[in-house]
Amino acid sequence: MKIGRVLVSAEEIEAKLTEMGAAITRDYEGQDLLLVGVLKGAFVVMADLARHIDLPLEFDFMAVSSYGASTKSTGVVRILKDLDEEIEGRNVLIVEDIIDTGLTLQYLIKNLEVRKPASLKLAALLIKDGVERPPLDVAYEGFHIGPEFVIGYGLDFDGKYRNLPYVAVVDEV
Ligand code: 5GP
Repeated sequence: MKIGRVLVSAEEIEAKLTEMGAAITRDYEGQDLLLVGVLKGAFVVMADLARHIDLPLEFDFMAVSSYGASTKSTGVVRILKDLDEEIEGRNVLIVEDIIDTGLTLQYLIKNLEVRKPASLKLAALLIKDGVERPPLDVAYEGFHIGPEFVIGYGLDFDGKYRNLPYVAVVDEV
């Protein structure tokens, strides 16, 4: 495998997260806010986005299995790690790296709504266009990209490349 063309540069990501962070700061001013990151991919976005939110927020994480060995989402989601805290009555903002089929999020949203948060919203850095998915209301969105498999900025290929500071496509060799 080779790292292919850069789709979103580190500078573009930084500028977008600054905008998203400012919008979140405005919307949640004076309110409680819990960011929920979906591991492993979202930890990079969450760390950088959170530093652009000027509020005394809290972090929690969930880990779910998504693709396994294949590069296609199956819709079968297993919770590998649940939240540490109760979310009843709290303002929860789910932070995702990328929305592809949306099946992982659809499952997570259903799962979290049962716990009666005061509000439940969604932030995602990347959204794949040209993919059929259930309707998802993304309150804070970064970039729309094509339906290609990408790596970097939290996204892996076989567990690697999550540390790339940009988002790139994969060149098969
Ligand atoms: P969905 O359920 O929306 O199809 O997939 C969500 C998860 O699949 C993402 O959080 C991410 O972990 C993984 N995923 C989706 N598209 C890509 C991609 O292009 N590259 C990588 N590395 N992971 C992806």
